[in-house]
Amino acid sequence: MAAEGQRVVLITGCSSGIGLAIAVMLARDERKRYYVLATMRDLKRKDKLVEAAGDAYGKTLSLLTLDVCSDESVKQCVNSIKDRHIDILINNAGVGLVGPVEAISLDNMKQVFETNFFGVVRMIKEVMPDMKRRRSGHIMVISSVLGLHGVAFNDVYSASKFATEGLCEALAIQLLQFNVKVSMIEPGPVNTEFELKLMTEVSKKEFAGADPETLHHFRTCYLPTQVNLFKGLGQTPEDIAKVTKKVIESPRPPFRNLTNPLYTPIVALKYADETRSLSVHTFYHMLYNLGGVMHVSVRIMKFLSFGWLRRRAISPT
Ligand code: NAD
Repeated sequence: MAAEGQRVVLITGCSSGIGLAIAVMLARDERKRYYVLATMRDLKRKDKLVEAAGDAYGKTLSLLTLDVCSDESVKQCVNSIKDRHIDILINNAGVGLVGPVEAISLDNMKQVFETNFFGVVRMIKEVMPDMKRRRSGHIMVISSVLGLHGVAFNDVYSASKFATEGLCEALAIQLLQFNVKVSMIEPGPVNTEFELKLMTEVSKKEFAGADPETLHHFRTCYLPTQVNLFKGLGQTPEDIAKVTKKVIESPRPPFRNLTNPLYTPIVALKYADETRSLSVHTFYHMLYNLGGVMHVSVRIMKFLSFGWLRRRAISPT
């Protein structure tokens, strides 16, 4: 149970990756300011988290079962918390989907929205009314840079994150009145099981229904570019956890939070040209014309972003 003065943090999808890293970092806070309710669909998958939490497990971190796709599970989980009191809700659970749209079933697409969008809606609907009543709270979402700009062959995943960004941007305005804050964390590539699982699945798939030319672009341009981006620019789950903790501890938590400085100018491209043609054409060239030299471009971009650009980043916010 949370001690006097500790802030109760509920995090979804903590059995791996970013959720696990955030849970551990907050639970191991030197000043013990947080009591973490780390949730996952199946507690049989708790071992990695328990091991990483070390002696924080049972003291500042406890586990609960929660499936963001089930109304009943969400209700049961929140009702099991003392006074239903949650100070910070971190919506992290998410699934990816990659491939040509014409080869993906509508059921598969709906499943992505069910987790990435309706999962967040379900959690917010359950937790927000109590926060409003208490006039205090912070709702966070692990979104993505793909929620700010579309990336080829990630169409449905991007759409699910755009939808979440839209929902939260509208809520952020209403909730200011109730002293409830809303923040989006927008990572670029992060090396977790998420991408590994996706790439393994994708490399085995046939994508029936897609024409040979599209499949050729997908396999020879998109996939190698992705691998290079993750290798060259991928952050660690701990990097994302650090940004998340910093946002939580900020006296005025920003709404939008890119975690990778390289993406600041890429996102700013959209705001520099109201027709959005500039970003569409830039992404086109990056994918189809620069694919072959991507590993070199990634190194140059990395050098620039961590030196000159980091100090002079143009921010859409
Ligand atoms: P991950 O696969 O390691 O973690 C996702 C977690 O969500 C898993 O633990 C999974 O079990 C859980 N989950 C899936 N469906 C669930 C459900 N219905 N109920 C509860 N939990 C469920 O991947 P990750 O990279 O740590 O992803 C975490 C979040 O970060 C996701 O929302 C993802 O969209 C976002 N993100 C990831 C990257 C990346 O490159 N890895 C980049 C940007 C954003």
